[in-house]
Amino acid sequence: MSRDDDVIIIGAGIGGLTLALCLHRAGIACRVVESTPEIRPLGVGINVLPHATAVLQSLGVLDALERVSVTTREAAFFNRFGQLVYAEPAGRWAGFDAPQLSIHRGDLQRVLLAAVQERIGAASVQTGCTGVGVEDGGGRVRVRLRGPVGEALPDALGAIAVACDGIHSAVRKQFYPQEGPPRWSGVNMWRGVCAHAPFLSGATMVRAGWLSVGKMVIYPIRNDIDDARSQLVNWVAELECAEPVQRDWNGRGRLDDFYPAFAEWRFDWLDVAALIRATETVLAYPMVDQDPLPRWSFDRVTLLGDAAHPMVPRGSNGAGQAILDARFLAEQLAARGLTAEALSEYDRVRNAATARIVLMNRTNPPDAILREVHERSGDQPFARIEDVVSREELARIADAYKEAAGLRGTT
Ligand SMILES: Cc1cc2nc3c(=O)[nH]c(=O)nc-3n(C[C@H](O)[C@H](O)[C@H](O)COP(=O)(O)OP(=O)(O)OC[C@H]3O[C@@H](n4cnc5c(N)ncnc54)[C@H](O)[C@@H]3O)c2cc1C
Repeated sequence: MSRDDDVIIIGAGIGGLTLALCLHRAGIACRVVESTPEIRPLGVGINVLPHATAVLQSLGVLDALERVSVTTREAAFFNRFGQLVYAEPAGRWAGFDAPQLSIHRGDLQRVLLAAVQERIGAASVQTGCTGVGVEDGGGRVRVRLRGPVGEALPDALGAIAVACDGIHSAVRKQFYPQEGPPRWSGVNMWRGVCAHAPFLSGATMVRAGWLSVGKMVIYPIRNDIDDARSQLVNWVAELECAEPVQRDWNGRGRLDDFYPAFAEWRFDWLDVAALIRATETVLAYPMVDQDPLPRWSFDRVTLLGDAAHPMVPRGSNGAGQAILDARFLAEQLAARGLTAEALSEYDRVRNAATARIVLMNRTNPPDAILREVHERSGDQPFARIEDVVSREELARIADAYKEAAGLRGTT
């Protein structure tokens, strides 16, 4: 850690590792400090939309990712009685050059980490190293570090520091000490993965039900995991609650707290209740975000990914926007040098783009389709969906989100 002319990336999550790959491609030296002593495959499934997989493709890691994920074919919406409300093709099937991937977060992180270590060197990611504060002065940044048991480590000196330290970002807290904890949406999420035979197209991302009575997001994230050609299926149960569960990515959930809402969910295309019961480990996490910030960049320090714009996971955009941040920031640093000016331009463009998504995820993310059907049908089964809402109206909701999320543009 003796050099002082490179980019110090705080956090080896999805955003930090993608940034390292983008900087390396641009010929910019960087290193990553990560608080966990060992990077293990934590979390469950996430979706990466085509605007972000296009970046991963340009970085040469898409083939490796496609081998460990499911290439999503369609997004389908159902009511809580299993009736189809709306379906549309996804990724390449929707005409994008790049796919939508449904993937275990741990697999995505592992592939990115292997590429960083192979291209930049094994020592480029230093684990067991928590960034606890940054200081800017004399044309350099100083990142204060602590080891696994809280012991002080030598400071890291660099030209630029980028905080990719996730939703509990220490650097964000340093800049915004009064901000308080993430804002709870009133919904808790229980998540799990389970081996299951392929259902529907074998690559369908399902959203069903509604938050007040129980909503489910279900999709496969790995193919052919056993001799019976089962898939690893990821599910997330979402339910409005009186109290938030604990904000710990690895916190365990209790079946009694949410299963009753889904106990009757046995559709002819999937027995959801059985899927939940067959799951060994259930994780619980509150659905939280933060208000958009006025500013991410402070001289030679900036925020990226969840540290900059945590959003409720209702638009499959958390990982994707971190990846888009990384590409844009690396482009600015390549064009303007390792300067405060590059960070300010990154802030100007990406802060505005992601603030729109944070706010839209609160009000009208893609699953607003399900809210409309829930309310207009009085939470009852329907004879024909056209009697409840027209296909054109549903398509308008889906398209408005894509527009806001930049799925039709480039930033
Ligand atoms: C353990 C874990 C499990 C997750 N599981 C899910 C999931 O199941 N579903 C989902 O939708 N999203 C999950 N997420 C969040 C998801 O990865 C992010 O929303 C998204 O990918 C944006 O990525 P990011 O790089 O900004 O943040 P993250 O992917 O959260 O990465 C942040 C990284 O910074 C490290 N870090 C934190 N503080 C410090 C510090 N002070 N110094 C150094 N390093 C630090 C963390 O250990 C982590 O590696 C999870 C995140 C984590 C950390």
